[in-house]
Amino acid sequence: MKETSEHTQSYYAATVNQETDYPRLQGEQHCDVAVVGGGFTGVSAALRLAELGYDVVLLEACRIGWGASGRNGGQLIDGFVEIERIERRFGTDTVAIVRKMNVECSQIVVDNIQRYGIDCDLKLGYLDVGTKPRDLAYFQELIVARKAHNYPHEMEFVPQETLKNYIGSDRYIGGLINRGNGHLHPLNLCIGEARAAEGLGTRIFEQSPVVRIHHGERPRVETAGGVVHAKKVVLAGNAYLGKTEPKLAGTVIPAGSFMIATEPLSADLAHELLPEDMACCDQRIGLDYFRLSPDKRMLFGGLCNYSGKIPNDIAATLRPKMLRVFPQLESARIDFEWGGNIAISIYRIPQMGRIEGNTYYAHGYSGHGVAPTHMAGHVVADMIDGKSDRFEIFEQIKHLRLPGGKWFANPALALGMGYHRFKDLF
Ligand SMILES: Cc1cc2nc3c(=O)[nH]c(=O)nc-3n(C[C@H](O)[C@H](O)[C@H](O)COP(=O)(O)OP(=O)(O)OC[C@H]3O[C@@H](n4cnc5c(N)ncnc54)[C@H](O)[C@@H]3O)c2cc1C
Repeated sequence: MKETSEHTQSYYAATVNQETDYPRLQGEQHCDVAVVGGGFTGVSAALRLAELGYDVVLLEACRIGWGASGRNGGQLIDGFVEIERIERRFGTDTVAIVRKMNVECSQIVVDNIQRYGIDCDLKLGYLDVGTKPRDLAYFQELIVARKAHNYPHEMEFVPQETLKNYIGSDRYIGGLINRGNGHLHPLNLCIGEARAAEGLGTRIFEQSPVVRIHHGERPRVETAGGVVHAKKVVLAGNAYLGKTEPKLAGTVIPAGSFMIATEPLSADLAHELLPEDMACCDQRIGLDYFRLSPDKRMLFGGLCNYSGKIPNDIAATLRPKMLRVFPQLESARIDFEWGGNIAISIYRIPQMGRIEGNTYYAHGYSGHGVAPTHMAGHVVADMIDGKSDRFEIFEQIKHLRLPGGKWFANPALALGMGYHRFKDLF
């Protein structure tokens, strides 16, 4: 399967509310902030900046939501960074700030959907499922610890005896419901947020890959056909940034993650599989994640590779995984298969920093990104607006680099995929 600069052939691209067709950048533009990358990180930064009154130009190499943001599992899960990773480096004040961010990130998404009336099928309710006794112990610890820190969402432990009320699978021995997490159509969310930013004055250009950034007091951001003169720049290309900014080479490892979507299932079968229509995820390192779409397809994801290549037959690997969870889907046709790239940060802490004083970046969400990208977009925008406290926490963290930023063929890095395991007990 070869990538083009149009959307990949995903279920999301096939069901988008309204395709975008923003112009290519031609000639010169002037603005306060130039944002490079039209995924959740870039779009949420642009939207927040526009809300704060900044004049923004957003440059996307392909289409809004073309990258991971328009291709993901649509699982809205809170958490920005594992508290214990921060705790080792910083004191209790910082931990308190990060704990708040862990909850705030998904609230930003919910608020945007409500404020801007974005039609993206948001459905709250999430079921973590376990295959091992240690998973169940973890669920119970998590409930206690979150209660101790006034976690605002309802959480409920589900023993094996009642698990059938939530999932029609014999694969799991217990679960954890979180009513604050959920699922949504990520491409429609991303486009809806871009349109909201546009409504506040942001100028958006698609099919406009940035080829060079000239740093300095007044940075110049160049594409093949034009140049943007900005006071500040935000780099939000995540796993797709490539060589755009040589100073970021090797900071994250791109890895592929893949999904399939079945044909629409009968209402009875869909109800048997996921009676409460919750998004689900298991606790293994090579995790399975799945949910129903509004038209009752099973959207199932879980494969991960570090080769940088999209396998020719994604379904050949993912379908057997899906059937291990739901043998009832034996005769269900697979209508869509697709993949996208996530950016793994070796310490699994999202990376934020600045280059030459006025170019900011945020990336490396390590597989978990729908909610964290929104948090990062806000933190970078607030930094530009003079509120530096949260940005500076993350800017201080030194991240391990890999030479040249090449694709890395070490399966141990699958550890970075564990977005479900927010063992921080916040
Ligand atoms: C298959 C899959 C399933 C996933 N499932 C989930 C999930 O269920 N829940 C969850 O929380 N997370 C999930 N994730 C992770 C999540 O999607 C990502 O972490 C998140 O979308 C990253 O957003 P982003 O904006 O940083 O990057 P992206 O969405 O990848 O956007 C980067 C954009 O920058 C553009 N760009 C790059 N370089 C340039 C340049 N030089 N000039 C102009 N534009 C440029 C690209 O074209 C791209 O559109 C999944 C990811 C994948 C791939």
